[in-house]
Amino acid sequence: MTSAKDIAEDGLDPRTSTGGTTRLNGAPVASEQHSVTTGPEGGIQLHDLHLVEKLSHFNRERIPERVVHAKGGGAFGEFTVTGDVSAYTKAAVFQPGTTTPMLARFSTVAGEQGSPDGWRDVRGFALRFYTEEGNYDIVGNNTPIFFIRDGIKFPDFIHSQKRLPDTGLRDANMQWDFWTNSPESAHQVTYLMGDRGIPRDWRHMDGFGSHTYQWINAEGERFWVKYHFKTRQGWEFLTDAEAAELVGQDADHSRKDLFEAIERGDYPTWDVKVQIMPMAEAEGYRYNPFDLTKTWSQHDYPLIEVGHFTLNENPRNFFAQIEQAAFAPSNLVPGVGFSPDKMLLARAFSYADAHRYRLGANSDQLPVNRPVAPVNSFAQDGPATYRFANPELPVHGSNSAGRGGQEMPDAGDLGLWAAQGEEPFRGAYVTHAADDDFSQAGDLVRNVMDDAERDRLAGNIARAMDGVSPEVEQRCYEYWGKVDAWLGEEVRRRFTAAHADA
Ligand code: NDP
Repeated sequence: MTSAKDIAEDGLDPRTSTGGTTRLNGAPVASEQHSVTTGPEGGIQLHDLHLVEKLSHFNRERIPERVVHAKGGGAFGEFTVTGDVSAYTKAAVFQPGTTTPMLARFSTVAGEQGSPDGWRDVRGFALRFYTEEGNYDIVGNNTPIFFIRDGIKFPDFIHSQKRLPDTGLRDANMQWDFWTNSPESAHQVTYLMGDRGIPRDWRHMDGFGSHTYQWINAEGERFWVKYHFKTRQGWEFLTDAEAAELVGQDADHSRKDLFEAIERGDYPTWDVKVQIMPMAEAEGYRYNPFDLTKTWSQHDYPLIEVGHFTLNENPRNFFAQIEQAAFAPSNLVPGVGFSPDKMLLARAFSYADAHRYRLGANSDQLPVNRPVAPVNSFAQDGPATYRFANPELPVHGSNSAGRGGQEMPDAGDLGLWAAQGEEPFRGAYVTHAADDDFSQAGDLVRNVMDDAERDRLAGNIARAMDGVSPEVEQRCYEYWGKVDAWLGEEVRRRFTAAHADA
């Protein structure tokens, strides 16, 4: 079986570890010190092949950073199934006793490559399982919910959290303008402004699949499922003040913390749990179960044990294995499918497309992205092609030789639900009895947070509002008043007090 170590070392060129340096064609380099010139003080000669190659390759070292989740880090590991969820999914990766090599990448959302790890932001929590049925990616976050519920708003949301076009600066007014005009953000913004909005580092936070996915068992029965990844290291967080001090000293503390923990053998572990909803219960549930701004109460759908994963191998090359890791929610395997969650369905397209832009059409052939399962595809050619099919076999589908004749209709079933026959529809989610945009956020404030966290929450919000226009300021008070009357007043009181002289 392929191990996490095998994948981490795939691509390491043993020939270059010793001996003299070479050009990219393998020929020896005469000098890394001196360019070839026309006499000791003349111009540089174009046929100094090593110099020209060295400079031109250097100019091409950077690729486009991810438009979101640009700053991150990750490690390889193993996922072991200790529970029995075979009644819900036939996916090989979830069968009892199975161990699967994997890769995890953690990140912040809005910052760029060099941004501090300690900013208040959602953290990305992307997992890849190299399963015998193909790569399965769960590309989640450290929060169970999100700011919006339809992918058509995603570019607008991200623009509002990034930088102004003229100054190139981030802008509180723009952030709060979007949030307060998008009431579905209230649950996520409450989570973000609370303690868990700045996890101490990546090891000390939970992860979530966030979306509702579909599981399909061996009998073809379907279930809705949500993933939870519970840190065994414990949740730890930083206050605004602690984070401000830390990021001034070390912008990369989470990347460093993960790497150093694995180097010293202190391997971080997360328990993998799921909530399962029988399909028949979805329609009558008090929240629309496909709305990414809502959780399913754990009182209604308790967590079920699946197993755990442990990160125990650092990357051998950050660029090759982390920067080029192409996680995509479209990397599904048999036994797992989508749901009518419109954010998920938009991401099913956009992640793979982003990688085609960033890494090219053949990024799936890089060692970190290559499935351990055999690939038998009619896709061919394109930049940097490495894999090719047996030349004796036809290169096209609908051939006479039988290659591709063994299509497996069930395996290709991405979990299309009982919507077949319905006309394409563009509109709002169907709201269920208890659906509104503020009550779960209010429950989090009133029922889950304690007095001290509520106090910090109000302070974090008031500070984060610094820079808003008077109009957006008023909308912020309305927004927080709808989450919780006390919180709305407390934010007003603090913001007003802090700006009394202005
Ligand atoms: P539960 O009491 O069963 O669950 C509460 C959840 O809140 C637990 O997962 C807990 O995580 C988490 N939590 C604890 N402190 C905080 C905090 N400061 N910030 C964010 N989350 C925290 O209740 P319900 O399932 O009925 O959910 C009630 C509310 O809890 C929801 O409206 C939602 O805001 C929030 N929540 C719900 C989750 C879910 O999947 N149902 C997941 C996370 C939050 P832990 O076990 O680590 O303490």
